[in-house]
Amino acid sequence: MKLSVLSAAAFTAAVFAIAPTAPSAARPVVCAECVKANMELLAGDALRGRGCGTEDEHAAARYIADALKASKIGAAFRPDVYLQPVELLTPTAARPATLEIASGATSLSFIQGRDILAMEPPESLAAPIVRVADAHPAPEAVKGKVVIYDSAVFDQPGIQALLRAGAAAVISPVSDQITQHWSELAARPPGQTEVSGVPSASRPARGAIIFAKPETMAALRAVSEGEARLAAPRGEPRRRTTYNVMGVLHGKAADADRHALLLTAHYDHLGVRSGVIFHGANDDASGTAAVLEFARILGSGARHRRTVYFGLFGCEEEGELGAQYVQAHLPMAIGDLMANLEFEMIGVDDAKHPGALMLTGWERTTLGPALQAHGARVGPDAYPEQHFFQRSDNYQLALRGVIAQTVSAAPLPATYHAPTDDLAHVDLAFMDAVISSMVGPVTWLLDSDFQPEWLPGQKP
Ligand SMILES: [Zn+2]
Repeated sequence: MKLSVLSAAAFTAAVFAIAPTAPSAARPVVCAECVKANMELLAGDALRGRGCGTEDEHAAARYIADALKASKIGAAFRPDVYLQPVELLTPTAARPATLEIASGATSLSFIQGRDILAMEPPESLAAPIVRVADAHPAPEAVKGKVVIYDSAVFDQPGIQALLRAGAAAVISPVSDQITQHWSELAARPPGQTEVSGVPSASRPARGAIIFAKPETMAALRAVSEGEARLAAPRGEPRRRTTYNVMGVLHGKAADADRHALLLTAHYDHLGVRSGVIFHGANDDASGTAAVLEFARILGSGARHRRTVYFGLFGCEEEGELGAQYVQAHLPMAIGDLMANLEFEMIGVDDAKHPGALMLTGWERTTLGPALQAHGARVGPDAYPEQHFFQRSDNYQLALRGVIAQTVSAAPLPATYHAPTDDLAHVDLAFMDAVISSMVGPVTWLLDSDFQPEWLPGQKP
C-alpha cells in the first residue's frame, strides 16, 4: 500500500457486517505449506525487501513467474513470456531543498528533512508570504502566495481549499502519520517518476505542500509578511527497470476471454534503508502469496468457464509504477476485463472486523455483496476516511471503467511501512482462512454469468 501523506490520522468507527457463510460446496483447500513457503521466500532476508527497481525485486519477479509456470498457468504477454520490463526515470535532488523566509529584519532558513518536508517541490519558487489561521480567506489574499497555514492541527481539507484558492505553496503543521513516516517521506524523490511508454499524466498545475515540524511552525509564527524562496535543485535522473509478471488460464467457454477476471497484487516493497531490511511480509508478500495460491488451486482443478489472469506488479510503493505501465500495455483488451480483485495486506487481522477482509469501494459496485453471499469473509471498507479505494493498483483500472477493487485485512497495522512488517508479525493461519473463504466465491465467479456492475453514480 502506497503511503498517503494527505490522509487523516484519526480513524472513525465503521459498521462492519459479515454475512453468514453460505454452505460450502466441496472445493480445493488452501495449501498452508505452499502459502508459508511463498511467504518465507518473498519476505525472507534473501530478497532484501524487494526494493523498486533492484536486483532483489527482479529476483522476486523471476520466482513468481516460475511459480505461475509450475501451477500450469500460461504466460500472458507472449508464449513463455511472463515478465514485462518497465523502464523508469526518477528525478533526484542535487541537494536537500531549502526554504528561506525574509520578513523585515527576520530571516529564517529551513532544510528539507531537518525542518520541513516539501512534497514534490518545484525547482524554484519565490513568492510573497501570508499567514492565515483559517482555510477560507478571500482567494485574492492567498492567490500566488506562500501561505503559512497556522492551524492548530493538521487539516487536510483546509490545505486542499488553500491550494484550490491558488496558493503557490501551503506550509502546514504535520499529522501524526507524517511524523511517523518522516524519514521515508524525506527520502522521496522531488518529483514523479516517469514511466517510459506511459504518457505522463497531465496533472493540473497545483501549489506545493510543505509540512513543517512543530519547531518550524513556532518560528514561522514570528512572521506575517515578507517573501519566501524555495529552492529544490535537481540532479541527474535515476534510471531503473522494474518488471510486471502476468500469467493466464484461459476458460473453456467460447467467449471465455471476453469476461476475464484479473487477480492482482504488488510484489515490491521498500527494500533496504539505512542498512535495515524492510521485509514487507504483510505489504504485500501476503497479497502476492494469495494470488499465487489462487493460481495453484485454479491451475490444478477442472477448467472454468471464464478466463483468469494473475498479475503481480512491481514498484507499487513508489507510485503504482508497474501497474501504470501494464495498464497502458495490457495483454487483453480492457473491455474484456469483467473485474479486477487486488489483494493488498491480508496478513494481519484487524480488530475492527476480526477474522475477515474488507473490500475497498464496497458501496460502489455489486461485486462485494455477491462474493459475500457466496461465502467470502469480506465486507465494507472499515476506513472510508483513508480513501483506500484510490490508494492501490486497482484505482487506475477503475478510472478506466473496470470494476477494480482491493481486498485487504488491516490496511494500516502498527507494522505498516516499518521494519517490523516481517514474517513474525504475520498471521499465517488467518491468511489461510481468508484465502480459503475466497476460493469458493472466486470459483463461482469464474463459472457464472454474473456481471458485476457499478452502482449508479459510483464509477470514479
Ligand atoms: Zn506499502
